[in-house]
Amino acid sequence: MAYLGEPQQTIAVLQKYNFHFQKKFGQNFLIDTHVLERIIEQAGVTKDDFVVEIGPGIGTMTQYLCERAKAVAAVEIDKNLIPILSDTLSAYDNVEIINDDILKVNIAKLAKEKNGGRAIKVVANLPYYITTPIIMGLFESHVPIDSITVMVQKEVADRMQVGPGTKDYGALSLAVQYYAKPEIVANVPPNCFMPRPNVGSAVIRLTRHTAPPVRVSDEKLMFRLIRASFNQRRKTLVNGLKNASDLPYTKEQIEDAIQSLGLPLTIRGEALSLEQFAALSEYFSSL
Ligand code: SAM
Repeated sequence: MAYLGEPQQTIAVLQKYNFHFQKKFGQNFLIDTHVLERIIEQAGVTKDDFVVEIGPGIGTMTQYLCERAKAVAAVEIDKNLIPILSDTLSAYDNVEIINDDILKVNIAKLAKEKNGGRAIKVVANLPYYITTPIIMGLFESHVPIDSITVMVQKEVADRMQVGPGTKDYGALSLAVQYYAKPEIVANVPPNCFMPRPNVGSAVIRLTRHTAPPVRVSDEKLMFRLIRASFNQRRKTLVNGLKNASDLPYTKEQIEDAIQSLGLPLTIRGEALSLEQFAALSEYFSSL
């Protein structure tokens, strides 16, 4: 069987099927065996695992996953790739190819049916144009997840990992860190892909917290506060929260809340930690 991580094998498959890359689907296929091995090793996939792969492409990483996992469900939107995947994965009987948009697939249902509701692993070289909705969708829908190990744009990986006081810190950092522990496990240059993307990439592993690092009585409220604080980055926290259409608080209530945390009224949202947003959320919940 031909392993597709070798560039000449990928080229042979693309030529055999006269496949044309579709930019709108974020198609940049991996052609570096070292990177593939690194992703698989860092994902920690074992024969106990049910793995969901998002966007298998021609099946390059899927081959590795099939060899290590108990079973794999690979969700691919591009119908032109489905006959190719049937061919390149024909040696494996533990893979199911699903031709659908990952944002429309009920992954919680899939985990229930295929894995008895036990925690799954997600592994992918993601289509970059929908990185945030995919990751937030997985967390917010409360799919039982062990870890998500994914290739993303380098800049997005940085945003997920940083804390307050850095320029990359934002709503995505807080949301990811509320649900999981992020660790960048590899930096990947454009020449490891075909075609080459015009941005750098990184592999990030998000290990789901067993218990969230902060406890709040109203998760949705905390995230509304976080979004409002970063919507107007250059404004003070008071103004950010006051101007948010989905928050009903008066300027006085907001100022009291900020002072109750021992913070100055001139503070900006970008200076607050997850713990401080949680405390703010608890203050407003109690009004
Ligand atoms: N896993 C392959 C690899 O590493 O070579 C391909 C990765 S490529 C960056 C992203 C893949 O996601 C493409 O195959 C693309 O067609 C697929 N894709 C894009 N949007 C998708 C969506 N909404 N749902 C499922 N797959 C999608």
